[in-house]
Amino acid sequence: IQDLKGQTVVVVGLGVSGRAAARLALVRGATVIAIDQNKKLGPLERDPLFEKCNDLRTILGHCDKELLEKADRVVVSPGVPLENYGLSFLLQSGRPVVSELDFAAEVLPKSAKILAVTGTNGKSTVTTFAGQMLSNLGSKVFIGGNLGNPLSDAAIKGLSSSFLEPFEVAVVEVSSYQMEIPHKHFCPSVAVLLNLTPDHLERHKTMRNYAMTKCRLFSHMNGSKLAVLPIGNQHLNEALKDHVSKCNVVWIGDFPGVKVDMVKKVANFRLPTIGVASQIQLGALKAIGNHNYYNAAVAAFCVLALDVGIDGEAISAIMGTLHAPPHRMQIVYSDTRGITWVDDSKATNVEATYTALTGLNEQKSVVLLGGLAKVLDIQGSCGFERLVDPLKYHRCVITFGSSGSMIQKTLWAAGLSIPCIKATNLEDAVNVARNVARLGDTVILSPGCASFDEFSNFEHRGRVSNLVTMRCCFHKNLKN
Ligand code: ADP
Repeated sequence: IQDLKGQTVVVVGLGVSGRAAARLALVRGATVIAIDQNKKLGPLERDPLFEKCNDLRTILGHCDKELLEKADRVVVSPGVPLENYGLSFLLQSGRPVVSELDFAAEVLPKSAKILAVTGTNGKSTVTTFAGQMLSNLGSKVFIGGNLGNPLSDAAIKGLSSSFLEPFEVAVVEVSSYQMEIPHKHFCPSVAVLLNLTPDHLERHKTMRNYAMTKCRLFSHMNGSKLAVLPIGNQHLNEALKDHVSKCNVVWIGDFPGVKVDMVKKVANFRLPTIGVASQIQLGALKAIGNHNYYNAAVAAFCVLALDVGIDGEAISAIMGTLHAPPHRMQIVYSDTRGITWVDDSKATNVEATYTALTGLNEQKSVVLLGGLAKVLDIQGSCGFERLVDPLKYHRCVITFGSSGSMIQKTLWAAGLSIPCIKATNLEDAVNVARNVARLGDTVILSPGCASFDEFSNFEHRGRVSNLVTMRCCFHKNLKN
């Protein structure tokens, strides 16, 4: 369909999502102006994916206000704060400013069901588990959004194969940045908010704003649509009242919602829509950390709730085939001294690290903490004292990076009962860990911080850590 023929679409922000939105706008027949503040980016016209696109112009650096004001549609990538280019003013004055997610949702195949996954931590794991359950059990599925391929790619797929159903279900990871602009079209059949703890406050400023933004996800869900929510989260009360009132609700951590028996490794559910009870066997799951049993249980519940002909028995049977995405509690190496090295580089906030440490079931670990800490409140606290309790079961803490000293001081001041060594950087931290770890220990990189002081992102940090691990273990093995 060329529903935007004759219209001008301005796409703001030319990362992965912006580029996908620009492609979608072109497929929909629009003339596209692609803008980004970063002058170092190459123009889209030179990207092979945009070859022979005559209706495209890229503007890097400054962009005339008038251009945005006159556009028929302004599509904003999640990475772009609304202060840029006067976007919030445009939005308030009623101009057609939309998110990449909603721009894509507008033209998704109507027959496709959407499962949306949000939360502070666990989104990518639950999205991946649910996607794998569906595809391993024969559903045609698109997996993406904030993880991997943007939703615009799903929309392009849908538009380019209108006779063949390209996918029955889209499993979409949704970040709070993608929900900043109120949407009209994105309306999942099932949406889950896994948890909400302090993070991204440099952008959302307060927990109230953060909660309101996240809960926007549910604002158009009504009737038999299903919201899956964490029970007893104090930050959510007001936001849930505002945004979740017209659809079914199920609680994580409660029965008949999603409750996991960690001893028997089973989850029992009752679906409110059809009233059927199901039991899922989680024992075969090959992922470390108790939280991953929850992640798998929530994913299974959501897949059942989609009502696409998959039952609990079938999900139990493929539990052992699921794998979490890289850098989330990933075993990277088991060395000759029986030491297991775990990469949890995606733990970029204190709460993720807390969950990782408590989920290790008191398996003695050397814990690598550090990077660029996130400030959680106006007093400037970064919240590391929360880790003192779960750390008491472990061998030692090694701090590193730009917040290394601060973390060490905070842990000491809060009464840390195990040794804490400060390393200069991540490479040094891995080498120190090799020396202090004992037979049968785990060494876990679960930094509780952003990575931007030393690395370009958490993947880069994980890859470097894994390379250094191999090098130092191999070197020591040769010496021993
Ligand atoms: P997200 O996509 O929300 O960042 P991930 O699935 O990538 O979440 O997991 C990031 C980190 O959060 C993991 O490395 C782990 O330390 C922690 N984590 C994973 N699942 C959960 C959960 N259900 N609750 C709290 N923390 C979790």
